[in-house]
Amino acid sequence: MNYRHVYHAGNFADVIKHVTLSLVIEYLKRKASPFRVIDTHAGIGQYDLNSEAAGKTGEWREGIGRLWGQDLPDGIKELLAPYFTSIRSVNGDGELRCYPGSPLVARGLMRAQDSLVVNELHPEDYAALVRILRGDVRVKILNIDGWIALRSLLPPKERRGVILIDPPFEVAGELDRLVSGLKDGLRRFATGTYLLWYPIKGLPAVETMKQRVAQLGIDKLLCAELFVHRPGDEQRLNGSGLLIINPPYFLDAHLGKILPFLAERLAQSREARSHLTWLAGSSN
Ligand code: SAM
Repeated sequence: MNYRHVYHAGNFADVIKHVTLSLVIEYLKRKASPFRVIDTHAGIGQYDLNSEAAGKTGEWREGIGRLWGQDLPDGIKELLAPYFTSIRSVNGDGELRCYPGSPLVARGLMRAQDSLVVNELHPEDYAALVRILRGDVRVKILNIDGWIALRSLLPPKERRGVILIDPPFEVAGELDRLVSGLKDGLRRFATGTYLLWYPIKGLPAVETMKQRVAQLGIDKLLCAELFVHRPGDEQRLNGSGLLIINPPYFLDAHLGKILPFLAERLAQSREARSHLTWLAGSSN
């Protein structure tokens, strides 16, 4: 397990992932009944942007660094407000020193009646996550394989919730595990919202993945992609995508505004752009 998220925390890919997670959580909060957030590959929860590792890549400067404390157009400001609330929950209003990972984005937005299950396999990252989250009775922290977690945690007893699946894609066979994990997860909890994050280096691997997920027979499958470079150079993260199963009805309209804004604001080349497509179904 070589992947360490601290090098990438707050980059453009984290921005679109965490903005989307925050919008889904806000949607779930429209009803008083409790929901559960399940985070199968959670990371360490909170990232020090002044650390040596974060400074080494400086990726956050081209992600959240281009949004925090900057002017945002009307219409976008409102849509990013929940995401900014979670960032404020670890920084206050002032200088950006810490970046919340997905567990703290979720915890920063949840209510007293909601719950969060986070899972992280790396022993040191798990220990860090425990230090950050312990003492909160709404949170359960696991240290098992994320694909086993996905199987064993579904369906949640609340029968309402969002599942974030955010593997590092560093081991061979991850795509097979993802497809079979999703298939099994959907059998157990067909009505949940699933957010599956993926990196985009070249397009062929990504197209294969999208096709295989689409073949699972999902009714509503939305695909949101943000490119900061033209895809092709396999040595570089050119973009990132989210497959969203059972998105809330408004999400495509909201992402339809947010994605072009982020493509422009977070561009690292002239080829930056975004795509939003339904791979199955539509918002109606
Ligand atoms: N979801 C986090 C966020 O948005 O802040 C980032 C997670 S990072 C992309 C992926 C994490 O998965 C890493 O912390 C890595 O240690 C962990 N990981 C790697 N293999 C795993 C596995 N088989 N099961 C669970 N976690 C794993």
